Amino acid sequence: MRPEILDVLCCPECYGELEMGPDARSDALEVVDGTVVCRACGETYGIDRGILTLTRDDAEWRELQREAKSWREVPCGPDVTRSLGDLPDDFFDDLPVPPTCLDAIAGKEGEFDLRRYYEVEGHVAAWNLDVLTELLADAEAPLVFDAGVQTGWTSRLLVQHLPHSRVIANDINGFDDRGLGFAKRRLFARHGVYFERVLNDIHVRNVKAGALDAVQACMTLHHYAYPQRALDVLATALRPDGVFVSVEPIVHLGVDKHVNEIETEYWTAHGIREGSFYFTDLYQMLTNAGFGDVRIYPVAAIDPAVEPDGYDARLQLPFYPMPRKYVDRGERGHKSWFDRMASFRFDAFSVPYYVLIYASKDRDLDVVREWFEDEEVRRGRVERSKRYTFYVDPLRPRTDEPEPGSWLLGLP
Ligand SMILES: [Zn+2]
Repeated sequence: MRPEILDVLCCPECYGELEMGPDARSDALEVVDGTVVCRACGETYGIDRGILTLTRDDAEWRELQREAKSWREVPCGPDVTRSLGDLPDDFFDDLPVPPTCLDAIAGKEGEFDLRRYYEVEGHVAAWNLDVLTELLADAEAPLVFDAGVQTGWTSRLLVQHLPHSRVIANDINGFDDRGLGFAKRRLFARHGVYFERVLNDIHVRNVKAGALDAVQACMTLHHYAYPQRALDVLATALRPDGVFVSVEPIVHLGVDKHVNEIETEYWTAHGIREGSFYFTDLYQMLTNAGFGDVRIYPVAAIDPAVEPDGYDARLQLPFYPMPRKYVDRGERGHKSWFDRMASFRFDAFSVPYYVLIYASKDRDLDVVREWFEDEEVRRGRVERSKRYTFYVDPLRPRTDEPEPGSWLLGLP
């Protein structure tokens, strides 16, 4: 960590001002060892390998420390566990999901299209990176909180493409092989970037109220024990005109969420939390957290490759259990977006279905509608997002030469 970041952080116990302790040791990049002290209550927080642990040392944090160990040894299906440490570093520069894990799932299910899965992950990450680049273009030195980053792969991309930004990467996992420690071991030097790394419980605020220009939460919300509380905390830390940008998997309204969670219990039995949400839950939680403008679109809107196999007309309801203003908005095509997120159907287990989420407390996000509903604008954004390149096929050697027909390949 670098001492300047303490200007925007606060004590997670009392929200007081923080300062460096007397025992700091630095390398050429940052403070690598030492403590941070709260001026108000005197609580101290440790710095280890440049990573600041800034959270309450309570029973919930100890529970999360157990979960962090589970993320290192990822369950890949019933009775199959892979160590992330066994995988090549190359892969984790760009995308977060271990390929052997997906191989194991493919073996069980026989339907999993690995490459398609990575393309979707890369595509939504690139799209949202482009969105953030645009929404933060006018901010002088925008402060971005990147939630649940695992290795820091999204934070690396943010810093590269928004070089005037300051990024705080958060996770519960600080391990060197596949956690926040990976960033320093691999990403900083290789990509010429730096971002702050903070270990903390997402349900506890450690950023000053109103300090953040943006929160990016890439496929992380469904892992939180109390997503509503986490969103409340993040909303408080955001400026009134700050933006929340996210992508989350959803289930359709014909799925019993509780049964769905039981069916994936090999994750939960292993200690990793996996929640299931309807698109209506996301609207409801964001609205409860104080976001006045919330926009949610299915990922098929930007990526025809994940167009579902069909829609179940019985689930296209006349009314959805969500804040009335979204149902009443009356914008052209809006009802059809809701119907698509309510009733999509995959005949085989191919890829998870994602939704793209944009929210702000005070800022009008009407521009988002254009991105999805104006065909020319939409196509332009897809083209633009191709400049963010990901290495999407872990089963083939890396190359800087893009392969014909695949739009996300190679390194920047
Ligand atoms: Zn304090």
